[in-house]
Amino acid sequence: MENIEALKEILKTPRKIAIVTHRNPDGDAIGSSLGLFHYLSRNGHDATVIFPSRYPLLFDYLPGTDYIVIDDDHPDDAQKVCEEADVIFCLDFNSLARIDRIGEVIAQQEKPKVMIDHHLEPDDFADYTYSDPTASSTCEMLYKFISEMLDDRELVDKTIGECLYTGILTDTGSFSYATSPALYRTVANICEAGIDSTYIQNKIFNGQNEKQLRLLGYSLTEAMRLYNNYNVGIIVLTLQDHRRFRIKRGDTEGIVNYVLKMKNMRMAILMCEREGCVKMSFRSKGAFSVQEIAQKYFDGGGHRNASGGVSHDTIGGTIKKLKDIFETYKELLNAEADY
Ligand code: 5GP
Ligand code: MN
Repeated sequence: MENIEALKEILKTPRKIAIVTHRNPDGDAIGSSLGLFHYLSRNGHDATVIFPSRYPLLFDYLPGTDYIVIDDDHPDDAQKVCEEADVIFCLDFNSLARIDRIGEVIAQQEKPKVMIDHHLEPDDFADYTYSDPTASSTCEMLYKFISEMLDDRELVDKTIGECLYTGILTDTGSFSYATSPALYRTVANICEAGIDSTYIQNKIFNGQNEKQLRLLGYSLTEAMRLYNNYNVGIIVLTLQDHRRFRIKRGDTEGIVNYVLKMKNMRMAILMCEREGCVKMSFRSKGAFSVQEIAQKYFDGGGHRNASGGVSHDTIGGTIKKLKDIFETYKELLNAEADY
């Protein structure tokens, strides 16, 4: 961020600040928003976190969730926060189109906007942009933003640390990808702030209910189709499945990753049928970019190894389109494993 000094100047005075993150917020979105919320509050600012939609309840252990304004539930409140704010922080997304209605509200606001994000191909909508697609997570970037760019390392306490550790843990798949020596140093500093990492691991990874585990079983035994010629596996959850398992937001989290546990599988796809569209999740191992697939064919994006998008076709039509894509990418999908 070249103009960091100007942003520092703005933050020297107590401000009203809106912190916004993406729809269906994940651990990184929630952790970075709440981490920044606590940091700004400690500095005398009046900060409010806005989510476009509700968050998975497993993240309820994070300090500060009680104060989040959900745009889907309270659009007037969310809009008022944006309109009254002096500054708007946009975390863990890089295009206002990703946050629907509240994105349109933010686009109209003539006030400083700050973007901190690690997704590929950022839009140029913010006045202050800190974009690093090599970073593991927005939470990792936020640690650097607070400790180095704003020179407030000593303010990262247990509360902020718990938030940041959550996003780092979830976005790296428990330190499986996008790690670096610098990340481990950051994590060491967060641990020194007094967090209990085992407690957080248990909250995130051992907090499932029976329905979620049975849905995982069903997804693998009944709903998974393998295309071994292309080293791709697809899990399809229809509207009927959604009713049968009473699938709610967050219940399908992580299921797509199981496909990649098979040695030969290079790309995994989860298709969740909605009324009128199919929500797509993509994962890959190695150099194969699902970001390219999501962006080119499914109006989406994300990271090289984890992306999302949407299909406006039926399940059948979408699978047909996917098979054509597999054929186009056949050589890359069958290249010697680089993982
Ligand atoms: P997930 O598959 O867990 O929903 O998303 C994986 C990654 O892709 C996340 O980093 C998420 O931000 C990104 N992503 C998911 N859906 C979309 C989408 O519709 N558009 C874009 N640009 N990114 C998405
Ligand atoms: Mn993230």
